[in-house]
Amino acid sequence: MKTLLRGIQLNGKPTNILINGNRFESVNAPDNAYANTAIECHRYAILPAFYNAHNHAAMTILRGYADDMPLQTWLEDHIWPKERAMGRAEVYEGSVMAINEMISSGTVFFNDMYFSMSRTATAVREAGIRAAIGVTYMDSYSDKMKASKEERICNWMEDQDSMIQITAAPHAVYTVSGENLQKLYRLARDHGRRFHIHVSETRKEVEDCMKAFGMTPVRYLDKLGVLGPDVIAAHCVHVDREEWDILAERGVTVVHCPCSNMKLGSGRFPYEMAIESGVRVTLGTDGCSSNNNLDMREEMKFAALLAKLNGDTSLLSAPEVLKWATVNGAEAFGIDAGVIADGKLADAIIVDLASPRMRPCYNLISNWVYAADSSCIRMVLCNGKIILDKRS
Ligand SMILES: [Zn+2]
Repeated sequence: MKTLLRGIQLNGKPTNILINGNRFESVNAPDNAYANTAIECHRYAILPAFYNAHNHAAMTILRGYADDMPLQTWLEDHIWPKERAMGRAEVYEGSVMAINEMISSGTVFFNDMYFSMSRTATAVREAGIRAAIGVTYMDSYSDKMKASKEERICNWMEDQDSMIQITAAPHAVYTVSGENLQKLYRLARDHGRRFHIHVSETRKEVEDCMKAFGMTPVRYLDKLGVLGPDVIAAHCVHVDREEWDILAERGVTVVHCPCSNMKLGSGRFPYEMAIESGVRVTLGTDGCSSNNNLDMREEMKFAALLAKLNGDTSLLSAPEVLKWATVNGAEAFGIDAGVIADGKLADAIIVDLASPRMRPCYNLISNWVYAADSSCIRMVLCNGKIILDKRS
């Protein structure tokens, strides 16, 4: 099955893009290239799709349920009690809501951490997008539940298609013991799974870790031997210079979640040190009840603005933050996508250059990061298929 996007803007120039199956065959195809479907795209530009590297998708069902309070109060007094009353049906419903919102704002992949994961996986499969589904783990689970989680890390969905991957997802250092973190890391490594964990999200987490183990979370995780290239560390707000070097040296991927960090008052991500360390940074929305949406384009803008808050206006430029939201996320999860180029998986966002927020267009990336919103999106492609079509 071949699709031709005729006359579409790529890197400032009109071109013809030929998609063959699930990959871009040519981003410079002739006008008369054979295709089953040809779409006139002269008013449109193509951009890489978003890869949301930290999410709790089903929490979308709690959108707006508890706002304007600190993380621990929010989590312990409001979210956790409400979640205890949630069943598989609510997880499915929340996941469907989340995926609909993500597709409408150009996201084709999310890295998830939640419970009743099989319901989220079903919603992902039905929608035709990509996901990394975390097998979430906390010490408070029953022994039976822990054993079933470990079994899932080892064997779950081994034979499924390439759109869904499974990760080991211990919640954090304050909810999972060192011994269990080591066990899960071993299981993950032995079964080719990534290891997804919240790290140094709040000052309190760092202080409690100091009290309990005499060191900060990154040093503690490193001492346990659970930092490596397959580790996805969400947040990393309170990380010092030496810890950034440790993360970079171990090849850890960090997920920055600017809206959630601001809304929960967690603090400003140390952009200066993160960038200087050379660590791979990606962007995530976090769950919908601490955001309160899953719009990666907004995360780009908030990140780029928050970076500049201390006075350095050159810190985190529009092209750089676009990379965090797209190709860095794809690479962190081993997805051969994130750039519009020959041979890459055909994931993309197609925007309308005639949208009010896209005019004039001196610089498409600048417009996309700083001016646009989801109303500019006309189509979203995932794995060669059009999963959103808003052409009028
Ligand atoms: Zn989170």
